[in-house]
Amino acid sequence: MFNEDRYLEKIPFVTEEKAREIAAKYPTPFYLYDEKGIIDNVESLKKAFAWNKGYKEYFAVKATPNPFLVKLLHQHGCGCDCSSKTELMIAKTLGIRGDEIMFSSNDTPVEEFTYCNGLGGIINLDDITQIAKVEQACGGKLPRKMSCRYNPGGVFNISNDIMDTPADAKYGMTTEQIFEAYRILKEKGVEEFGIHAFLASNTVTNDYYPKLAKILFKLILKVRERTGVKISFVNLSGGIGIPYYPYQDPNDIFAIGEGVQKAYDHYLTENGMGDVAICTELGRYMLGPYGALVTTAINEKHTHKEYIGVDACAVNLMRPAMYGAYHHISVLGKEDELAVHKYDVTGSLCENNDKFAIDRVLPKIDMGDLLFIHDAGAHGFSMGYNYNGKLKSAEILLKEDGSYQLIRRAETPKDYFATFDCFDFYDELIKE
Ligand SMILES: *Cc1c(COP(=O)(O)O)cnc(C)c1O
Repeated sequence: MFNEDRYLEKIPFVTEEKAREIAAKYPTPFYLYDEKGIIDNVESLKKAFAWNKGYKEYFAVKATPNPFLVKLLHQHGCGCDCSSKTELMIAKTLGIRGDEIMFSSNDTPVEEFTYCNGLGGIINLDDITQIAKVEQACGGKLPRKMSCRYNPGGVFNISNDIMDTPADAKYGMTTEQIFEAYRILKEKGVEEFGIHAFLASNTVTNDYYPKLAKILFKLILKVRERTGVKISFVNLSGGIGIPYYPYQDPNDIFAIGEGVQKAYDHYLTENGMGDVAICTELGRYMLGPYGALVTTAINEKHTHKEYIGVDACAVNLMRPAMYGAYHHISVLGKEDELAVHKYDVTGSLCENNDKFAIDRVLPKIDMGDLLFIHDAGAHGFSMGYNYNGKLKSAEILLKEDGSYQLIRRAETPKDYFATFDCFDFYDELIKE
């Protein structure tokens, strides 16, 4: 478990001095993203899969749906994996079209299929019953290229201590349905086929992708044998995790790439399918470590416990409240001080689960200190909401040369009240 002595092991990507400079211009709380970290990571990912000619990462837009960041990843070769119409709209606005869009949605409204098809995106079917809906959505004819999402059911063991239970997951089709789905797609004129599965989330092990790949490679050989359909791309989806705890070893993306390659050579190349493209839809792995929530300590309270109140709350970062997720915290400028004070670090929501940390041992925190909440770059801002009338924060991109750029302004009360703008009390409401 978490070893408090190793507090110092996560290093913030910004200094206190720089964070204060930014905070003077854009008040806390704000999200800060590390451009160089993002770029280095995506370049390593591409290298790790360079052995596969058709390899492509489709960034899972839902993780961090900011057009500036999606564009940055696109400039480095990534497409978009979208889950909704608004995410497709981001792709469209950035000029990302066609084969660069994967639409891996579920419980999908028909009109979203229509919208995706209008952009030429690849529809990744979550269910066999949606074939008819996609047909209807696309003017009576299925798109030329489609993908199907697989769910083998049962328990998925990655290693002795890491497993997940696809049987409980709402996504994807059973093995029998998958065969049937490809038969129908082929009959209805689809010419190019993909397969997709997402069987475990936030895996911090180099074994997940290789194990998943093996399952999908074996399956596509069976699909070829039973239906005559030749699958041309295998989508390993998301699920590569990040070490939220300082004691965890990060994934080795090169070991992961090699593991997939080994399975590929054995199952596909050996069986005349050495031209199958690999794609991924990573979200957390792409941005998680390269984004942080920066917040100021504004209140302290000494009751049955020691509390530090910050100016961010679960509205800005929901993972601790929602999943009890651990996010490491650094007190900027005090990285070298001994961690000898035990605190609950809280937000201001009227919810007792609004705590960024519980019984966390940290250096002594003074009012005005800046706290750097690590690993919030994915599934952080994007899960935000507006409970208690709280407003969402700004997002800022920090560049390698120390300059920084606002990439989303903070919400104002006007944004919060915007959906009342059709009522006569609106003008009064937004008058400060
Ligand atoms: C959420 C999601 C992803 C990204 O997952 P990460 O855990 O962020 O890598 C990819 N594909 C689909 C279909 C998803 O729902």
